[in-house]
Amino acid sequence: MAEKLSVAVLGATGSVGQRFIQLLQRHPWFEVNELVASDRSSGQKYSDVCDWRVSDAIPESAREIRVKGLQDKLDSQIVFSSLPGGLASTIEIELAAQGKQVFTNASDNRMIPDVPLMIPEVNKEHLALIDVQRQNRGWDRGLVVANPNCSTIHLVLALKPIWEQFGIELAMVTTLQAVSGAGYPGVPSLDMVDNIVPYIGGEEEKIESETLKLLGTMSGDHIASAAITVSTQCTRVPVRDGHTESVSLKLRKPAGIEQIIDSFRSFQASPQKLGLPSAPANPIVVRDQADRPQPVLDRDAESGMASVVGRVRECSIFDVKFMVLGHNTIRGAAGASILNAELLVKEGFIS
Ligand code: NAP
Repeated sequence: MAEKLSVAVLGATGSVGQRFIQLLQRHPWFEVNELVASDRSSGQKYSDVCDWRVSDAIPESAREIRVKGLQDKLDSQIVFSSLPGGLASTIEIELAAQGKQVFTNASDNRMIPDVPLMIPEVNKEHLALIDVQRQNRGWDRGLVVANPNCSTIHLVLALKPIWEQFGIELAMVTTLQAVSGAGYPGVPSLDMVDNIVPYIGGEEEKIESETLKLLGTMSGDHIASAAITVSTQCTRVPVRDGHTESVSLKLRKPAGIEQIIDSFRSFQASPQKLGLPSAPANPIVVRDQADRPQPVLDRDAESGMASVVGRVRECSIFDVKFMVLGHNTIRGAAGASILNAELLVKEGFIS
């Protein structure tokens, strides 16, 4: 690409916003030129207002950028949104109506029927919804594409090869979610040290409904929900980054454990075939050791862009059970949006 595409990050001072800035600092196609946050930060230099919590230093290219507010005009063509839920819905639609290509992490627009909820390895064919979206709303250049909830992404990436090869009737899922999933400063330390919180508001409903949309099929101008029943229990655990999930599945066709493991190991999809810059070489990484995956050891597999599975074994109630783990602010959020944007560039939706 001769010239990089200009990018704005909304919610740039938050946990996910910081990840966007870190992941985009040497991106071959995208260049961060605009940063947007609340009135608390707008008008000030990014390095003065951002409480930077990512391991590298603030990229030089971002330090001096003067943060904008939501009321300010944006010049960038591509907008990565990590705004809080509730705020995102109208802002993202307004920006798309202005002709921007918006990639959102917020939950607000994920289940809107004409918004593709995208994992490039799972449901690339849902990009056909963009024509429907543009037609419904009278947009010629603008679009909104969402990525799923940070637990849903890793669950559905792991389900996809099994879904394709054997079918899945029922999925029972318990999550053990990192504290950074609640943003910064997130859950008070006195609630997290020596403790597990067995409730994350709205999370179970999101995982259950988003899975049906992601595995659904394009039917005319809409997505027909997948025929799978998902039951979820979500917990917050004293882990900094990396969501772990315990998964049990009832399959539609019989499968041996070795066949399931092979389906994970051999899983390749469009991002790998198209050579997208942020695509992990192996979207699903299998750990053989009996005590893996673990957040501290495995969340950075494939630079945080893979879902890591382990403990694949027979289930005495359903058919198969396993653990899956993935980074919540990389593949679970900012990295997922960036991969979606890369796919749309490659597919000609953005030029
Ligand atoms: P966060 O750390 O609380 O950051 C929120 C960001 O939004 C900050 O930049 C904040 O700016 C900005 N903001 C707040 N109120 C605003 C307003 N009125 N106008 C403009 N900007 C405003 O939250 P986060 O964890 O990054 O999450 C951001 C979004 O991503 C949420 O929708 C969340 O559900 C989603 N998400 C998060 C994760 C995760 O693992 N954390 C994963 C997937 C999706 P100031 O600093 O100026 O207040």
